[in-house]
Amino acid sequence: MCNGRNDLDNLRFGALCWETFAELFKFGVQIAQEAYADVLRTNQNEHLDVKLHTRITTDAGFGARTLFPEDDRPGQRTAIVELTLPVEDFDEGFYLRLPYYMFHEVCVHAPEGWTASAKRVPTNERCAFGEGFVDAAAVRILARALEREGILTDADRPYAERFMNEAEKAQHQRADLDAAQRSSSKRRAGTQQDAAHARDEGMRLFKRLAKREDRQLADEAIRIALCVNLLPLEPDERISFMAMLDRASDCRAALMQRRSDWLHSVRAAANRGDLGQLRALIGPARDF
Ligand SMILES: [Zn+2]
Repeated sequence: MCNGRNDLDNLRFGALCWETFAELFKFGVQIAQEAYADVLRTNQNEHLDVKLHTRITTDAGFGARTLFPEDDRPGQRTAIVELTLPVEDFDEGFYLRLPYYMFHEVCVHAPEGWTASAKRVPTNERCAFGEGFVDAAAVRILARALEREGILTDADRPYAERFMNEAEKAQHQRADLDAAQRSSSKRRAGTQQDAAHARDEGMRLFKRLAKREDRQLADEAIRIALCVNLLPLEPDERISFMAMLDRASDCRAALMQRRSDWLHSVRAAANRGDLGQLRALIGPARDF
């Protein structure tokens, strides 16, 4: 099986497994590194080691998740991105969505909780912040990268526009309530609906802040997403941050001075890459 460690089998499996995945993965890691380096603007001597493991399955459906191994610790962060590939169903459609699925893991999950004091624990897949807000920032970063010349390999370059389209389609599908409701089992449908709701909420909030036509606003929203993603927040702190961001960016927020002051402070802290200040600004949303 192709688990990223036994190269001989991978080579026998051919281009489908090894070269294609490894190259697209390297591309994702490179652009995530650039994005985080730009946001933090520090001389980072800290290093993030991201590994790719692929698993082949005969079940239908594609899977991706990020695990933090035992040796993940401050100063030496490690993440393993595990892709589960449906060998019988793997077709062009899956290939075109690979950059999005891989980049979601590499940009949203691999660096999350970076500043934690110990080994990190994965966040849940129903989080409006990670799955909606940071994911939307990741899609924007990916789209910008795919527009750049010379960043993809010769083999992947002709697919750049389709990668971009499929990334946006996949992102919307994951936030689509109708698709979630079509699930066969009721309990599963409920969970999927929660997840879709959360994604939709976070995605809308990102788009409200990151107006496409305003590059500076978009850059600021991306910085907020990436900086806050590095903080080791509890699930309710992430939700509370989303609620405060929602209220502060609401069109009526101008009437509430402290909400617009708060948003101004969040933007300024994210622009400086000041994680300590951002941490201090995230609190309970009561009386806000
Ligand atoms: Zn995720």
